[in-house]
Amino acid sequence: MIIIMLGAQGTGKGTVAGILSKETGIPQVSTGDIFRKNISDKTELGIKANEYISSGNLVPDEITVPMVQDRLTWDDAKNGVILDGFPRTIEQAEKLDEMLNKMGKKVDLVVNLVTPRDEIIDRMVTRRICSNKDCKASYNIKLDPPKVEGICDKCGSPLKQREDDSDPEAINRRLEIYEEKTSPLVKYYEDKGVLRTEKVSISINRMGADVAKDLLEIIKK
Ligand code: ADP
Ligand code: ZN
Repeated sequence: MIIIMLGAQGTGKGTVAGILSKETGIPQVSTGDIFRKNISDKTELGIKANEYISSGNLVPDEITVPMVQDRLTWDDAKNGVILDGFPRTIEQAEKLDEMLNKMGKKVDLVVNLVTPRDEIIDRMVTRRICSNKDCKASYNIKLDPPKVEGICDKCGSPLKQREDDSDPEAINRRLEIYEEKTSPLVKYYEDKGVLRTEKVSISINRMGADVAKDLLEIIKK
């Protein structure tokens, strides 16, 4: 099953994808996580990607698309993947369709997470990630804090703020790019009949975990 997580920054794509992955055994493929791992490992790909990521811009397709294409051929992906952070443009979506087509697969479900703008910014500012490069645990110091302040529950490493989450300009740039380049994907997938929109908001007491629970019911059918 090929599932795509769509939604602006801070809507909880990673949280929902993580729960779905844990419960179904389908791997979560987060392009942001792959980039961050490469950045901390100082690989060639990481050094190149960081030029764009630190300022809040998209990494060019010449780097991103082959990286995803390769990931789809891994053994653990033979029953599908949960894509988190890809595609982010119509061009990437078209390239993904081509790749999947060649593999005899297609996009089965696109989950579109929608959160009010003021909450989104709040959540990006209060987001913390584990500094251990092999652990990608993510926390929110207000909504989902670790048991011990500043320490990862899973591996005990210190938590840190992402560079692009601590820079207001990078935050704005990312939200702008989302509106301009990524939000057209909502219609793209709606037209294909695979879109499911889910509101995530503290105002209706519905968070990522609640959405994941409902999605699991559908997926398991
Ligand atoms: P966020 O959704 O908060 O921006 P991600 O972890 O998904 O965070 O991505 C971090 C950064 O990695 C993005 O700002 C962008 O620079 C880069 N990135 C991730 N996915 C893609 C993609 N599909 N295409 C281009 N750049 C990407
Ligand atoms: Zn950790």
